Amino acid sequence: MEVQVLAHDGKNLKFVLSGTTPAFANAVRRAVMLEVPTMAVDEVDFIVNDSIMNDEILAHRLALIPLRTPDGYLLPEECTCEDKRCPKCSVTLTLKKRGPALIVSGDLESSDEEVVPVSDSIPIVRLGEGQRLELVAIARLGRGKDHAKWQPGVISYKYMPTIDVDEKLCNACGKCVEACPRSLLKLSGEHLVVEDLERCNMCKNCVEACPKGAIEVGYDPTKFIFRVESSGAMPPEKIIEKAAEILEGKSKEFVGKLRNLYGGGSQVWSKAQR
Ligand SMILES: [Zn+2]
Repeated sequence: MEVQVLAHDGKNLKFVLSGTTPAFANAVRRAVMLEVPTMAVDEVDFIVNDSIMNDEILAHRLALIPLRTPDGYLLPEECTCEDKRCPKCSVTLTLKKRGPALIVSGDLESSDEEVVPVSDSIPIVRLGEGQRLELVAIARLGRGKDHAKWQPGVISYKYMPTIDVDEKLCNACGKCVEACPRSLLKLSGEHLVVEDLERCNMCKNCVEACPKGAIEVGYDPTKFIFRVESSGAMPPEKIIEKAAEILEGKSKEFVGKLRNLYGGGSQVWSKAQR
């Protein structure tokens, strides 16, 4: 297996994963979307709400504000505290404002300076003259499989395209160069060259444009182009790292369960291992 980074800007990551299978690529995708824990508002205590929005809508809006997620917090089910509001498993975000004002994510005051909204300018609600809003929001770690508010970002992958040119048939007429909507094909003397292959969307316009039938477009089932866009909760490479750790943990758990099933180092298990 090999990883090659194509682009990285702190929030977005594009990389090629080669020498693997579609099943593994999909396992990584699913682990990112469903399993990597992030912080999100999970409960809100309203003290005063004079705004035009009811408590439920405001709570929903607060929950969808992406929060920076450092290491070290426990998932509620891992924490031994009773109300799941201790500093090990939760962060408190407080807000106290009087109108007229536009309340934004930056108005939330966090009990942990590392767990703050990824942007200060996400609108929550507008307060009219004299209206007040006072609340305490509890953020906890959670997983995307329970609610989309806990997804660390979005991830997708596609097969690496392949463009094969039969040099014996190609007469460098240039029709494919004109037909390609992404301008990936270039003529270099008498040779056709492909640039930025990963940008190919496999439309096959080049195949149809070639009068000699010299071009074949396909894909490599062992090579995948991944795109990860973080919500800002954590850097995209950390999302992938955590997903890989989760997959590793699940595999170890599976092997452990199998061992128990076959009674540890019994003959049956030894046989199964072979
Ligand atoms: Zn706790």
